[in-house]
Amino acid sequence: MTKYQVLKKYFGYDNFREGQEILIDSILEGRDVLGIMPTGAGKSLCYQVPALMLSGITLVISPLISLMKDQVKALNQAGIHAAYINSSLTESQIAKALTLAAAGQYKIIYVAPERLETPGFLRFVEQVEISMLTVDEAHCISQWGQDFRPSYLKIVQFIKCLKKRPIVSAFTATATENVRGDIICVLGLAEPEVLVTGFDRKNLYFAVETPKKKDAYVMDYVTKHEDENGIIYCATRKNVDMLYEKMRTAGISVTRYHAGLDNEERKNNQEDFVYDRFRVMIATNAFGMGIDKSDVRYVIHYNMPQSLENYYQEAGRAGRDGEAAECILLYSPQDIMINQFLLEHKEQKQEMEDEDISAVRERDEERLRIMNYYCLTKDCLREYILRYFGEYGKTSCGNCSNCSQKFELVDVTDAAKKIVLCVKEMHGRYGMNVAAGTLVGANRAKLREYHTDTYSSYGALREFSEESVKQIINQMLIKGYLTVTNDKYALLKTTAKTNDIISGAAEVILKESKARQQGEDRKKVSSQRKSDILNSKGLELFDRLRALRTEIAKEESVPPYIIFSDKSLIDMCVKVPFHQDEMLSVNGVGENKYRKYGARFLQAIQDYTGGKKEKYYFGEENTADFRF
Ligand code: ADP
Ligand code: MG
Repeated sequence: MTKYQVLKKYFGYDNFREGQEILIDSILEGRDVLGIMPTGAGKSLCYQVPALMLSGITLVISPLISLMKDQVKALNQAGIHAAYINSSLTESQIAKALTLAAAGQYKIIYVAPERLETPGFLRFVEQVEISMLTVDEAHCISQWGQDFRPSYLKIVQFIKCLKKRPIVSAFTATATENVRGDIICVLGLAEPEVLVTGFDRKNLYFAVETPKKKDAYVMDYVTKHEDENGIIYCATRKNVDMLYEKMRTAGISVTRYHAGLDNEERKNNQEDFVYDRFRVMIATNAFGMGIDKSDVRYVIHYNMPQSLENYYQEAGRAGRDGEAAECILLYSPQDIMINQFLLEHKEQKQEMEDEDISAVRERDEERLRIMNYYCLTKDCLREYILRYFGEYGKTSCGNCSNCSQKFELVDVTDAAKKIVLCVKEMHGRYGMNVAAGTLVGANRAKLREYHTDTYSSYGALREFSEESVKQIINQMLIKGYLTVTNDKYALLKTTAKTNDIISGAAEVILKESKARQQGEDRKKVSSQRKSDILNSKGLELFDRLRALRTEIAKEESVPPYIIFSDKSLIDMCVKVPFHQDEMLSVNGVGENKYRKYGARFLQAIQDYTGGKKEKYYFGEENTADFRF
């Protein structure tokens, strides 16, 4: 079978997505690969397709049990023999699985990294041909990553002890240089094909909001989107519990997840969300890794997260199915304090040298600062994110809260010059508060104690409020005309670019928001849902098919989206298939799924349409075969 046939037969797709083909081809040529693609881009397929074409077994190392279970379920649904081996199985179940595996039952086996050094497992790999070793969530191997797992280091030893070195493929969504280098070096990838694909998730709308009352904002949002699945991330367990109680009492379909709940409850709550029994998940960042739920329509951050890496990963759990989804960050300046506190109390993961600890601390502070600037910038949010991940996008995406806002441009270069003078007078001893206080000439004991009231810049910006001086300083920080030290004191310093302000080579422009016209201006382009193309009868059919999907999901105890995605159902409403051929042309309907469910969905469509082909969507006849 060719890779296209595999794609169609097992996964029901007609086309590969960006990057998938290059990685698959390289693997099939016997090369190591490193695939760096954002969450939801389709990394799994990059190793699953070649796994089915290689002669031996593919082992997939994955950090989380839930992740493995989900993937194996999805593969089994697609008619692919796969299994997982981890601590959720009993010893005898493991022995049985290994026996079946040795007999050639499985093409793909998911294993926890801890398993690699157990004698039983080592005996097993001696008996079989391991064609490929895949390391999923490969950033876990890097100490610079956010989720370093010491057990990932065992992979290296394991590869060495195999009699024939398999192809090694690694995948992650973390794009920073350090992590990338670590993966290649620690895993010992041999001249790998390294592919980084577009980190832009076009279907996601990004927003930073600063509501006075976050609770009220969240309640209002959730109520307005009550038939949609969403995740709300909070920085602390306390916030999760507080918000959870509030929403539950208000009758909202909500569950929660954090490390303070016992295992059983966590597991149940997670399943309730994945299986659509509850619409809203309120959680700390403990929730999410391994959640492949594809139909999350919004992710709200109740607090600012600790880094843009974290943010993009968490927010990226919205809209994995490619449909429009919203990522909203509720910012208050307090968030930086909460995070600073969390950083100070962060447990270091293993015995690290003091030097390493302080290096990590500095990085954490810098990450936090960059995150904070995201919340303060008035420029395109998407561009800000992409630039951080090393990509240059357009300067205006038209699909974020800044791009959809009208601003008044105010030239504050003169004020910026005075700020620079003040920073120079401070000689790197103080931070933003002292600077702003000094510049507006505040009458404060602190300033007298520091003698900044004797500076020539004291009172130089008397006509400004302290708040607006801080705004200008922030703008200068974001643009790199000033910087701060990477510690909690955040002492202001000049940079190589600072003198551009003094010399007049650069100007500082402040964007001041005009009152936003509530949502009116927002371009509807990418916020359009795919189901919007269905007319009222189409939507009715869509609802029926969804109900059937829920019914089947219950029978088989798998999450509904594993049966068919919303996209597939919408495509059915557009194509109105009456026969096998027509059904197989629907996006996401492969042969195996057709065998299992085709008849029931065809029947449901027959029943609804009475066998008459009508048009259930808006638009031209020839757009019926639209691409997703
Ligand atoms: P990642 O691991 O990169 O976060 P996944 O492998 O979980 O992403 O894939 C996300 C979704 O994209 C899945 O629902 C998957 O079936 C779908 N997908 C992957 N490749 C394709 C493709 N070529 N065409 C259509 N959908 C795809
Ligand atoms: Mg994945």
